[in-house]
Amino acid sequence: MAEASDVFLRAVEITKSYGALHALDRVSLDIARGEFLTLLGPSGSGKTTFLMCLAGFVEATAGRLEEAGVDITQRPAEARRYGMVFQGYALFPHMSVAENVAFPLRVAGMARGARGARVAEMLETVGLAPLGNRRPHQLSGGQQQRVALARALISHPPVLLLDEPLSALDKNLREQMQEEIKSLHRKIGSTFVFVTHDQTEALSMSSRVAIFNHGRVQQIGTPEEVYEHPANRFVAEFLGRINLIPLDQAVVANCRLTGRFEGQELTAPAPKGPLNTPVIAVRPEYMRLSAGPPHQGENGLRARVRARVYGGAQSVLQLTTDSGVEISLDVPSRGEAPSMACGETVWVTWPRDSGFALSGES
Ligand code: ADP
Ligand code: MG
Repeated sequence: MAEASDVFLRAVEITKSYGALHALDRVSLDIARGEFLTLLGPSGSGKTTFLMCLAGFVEATAGRLEEAGVDITQRPAEARRYGMVFQGYALFPHMSVAENVAFPLRVAGMARGARGARVAEMLETVGLAPLGNRRPHQLSGGQQQRVALARALISHPPVLLLDEPLSALDKNLREQMQEEIKSLHRKIGSTFVFVTHDQTEALSMSSRVAIFNHGRVQQIGTPEEVYEHPANRFVAEFLGRINLIPLDQAVVANCRLTGRFEGQELTAPAPKGPLNTPVIAVRPEYMRLSAGPPHQGENGLRARVRARVYGGAQSVLQLTTDSGVEISLDVPSRGEAPSMACGETVWVTWPRDSGFALSGES
C-alpha cells in the first residue's frame, strides 16, 4: 500500500448504483503520486464506472474522493482537468493531427503562437513530429492512438486516465504501444490509471494492479504480489492458468496447509485467515514431470497424459489424475516431454513452497 504521504488520489467506499445494480460496491483505493495503476477485471466489473467517477463524469451514489488530501467529490470534471484516452480514438476527423493535439489549449484560450511550440514538443514526445499536417484517416491505428495520447497530455494533466486504449489494436502493435505508454509514463512522471481486461497487459505495464469483480476490488498489489499470492480464487484464476488440488483431511497449522490427495501427502504455505474447504493451488510453470516419486521438499501426484497443446516455444500438457482432477503444466516444446505418449501415467512434482492455499469455494 502507498504511504499516506504519497497518496495522490484516494477513493473511500465509492458506491455507484443503477437501480438494484451496484456497478461499484464500496470501492476504497489509494493511488500514489506518479504511479502506474492498472484496473483489471472482466467486462462489467466496474472498471469504466470507477474511471468515470475519478474523472468526474459519473457521480457516485455514495463515498468520497480526495485529491492530495482535499475532498473533490463534488468538484466538476472540468475543474479536475484529468487527461483521458479511450479505446475509440475520438479524434476530430476534419482537423489535422497538430490541430487535434492543440485543441485543449485552444479551448483554454492559449494564444496561437504559444500553442505551436507546445504542440511541436508534444508531437516530438509521442514520435509524430513529421505527421502534424496529416488528417487522422491518413494514420495507422497506433499513430491515431498516439495523437489521442498527445492531446490528452498537452495540458499537463496531473492524472491520465486510460480506458482500454489498446484493445482495438492487433497483438504486435499492442505490445509496441504498451512499451510506448510505459516510456511516456517514465518521461512525464504524472499519475496514470490504466484500464484493461487483459491480464498480461496489466502484469507487464503496471507498478500496481487493482483487480475488480462485481464492482468490488478483490485485491490490489504489485504484479508479483497478485500473481504469486492471490487473495482469493477469483484473482488466482483471472491472472493465469492455475491447478487446484482438493485435499482430504486438510489441516492448517503453523501457516501451512497439509492434507492428502490420492494417497499422497501434499503441503503448501497458507495465509493467516480462515479457509473454506482449502485446496492447494499451483501455477503450471512450477510443476514438472518426474521419472519417480517426489524428493524431499517436493509434492507429487500421479496423473495420466491426456493431450498436448502446441504453443510455440512452450507446449501445454494436459493430464488427469485417478479421481479426475485436471492438471495442466508447461513444457518446452523441444524437450523430451512432448514425446510423452497420451495415456501414459507420469509423476508430476513441484516444490512444497511453490504452491499456495486457497479456499476451494470462490
Ligand atoms: P467494465 O468497464 O468493467 O466493463 P462498467 O463500469 O462499464 O464495467 O459497468 C459495470 C456495470 O454497471 C455493468 O453491469 C454495466 O452494465 C453497468 N452500467 C454501467 N453504466 C451504466 C448505466 N449508465 N446505466 C445502467 N447500468 C450501467
Ligand atoms: Mg469498460
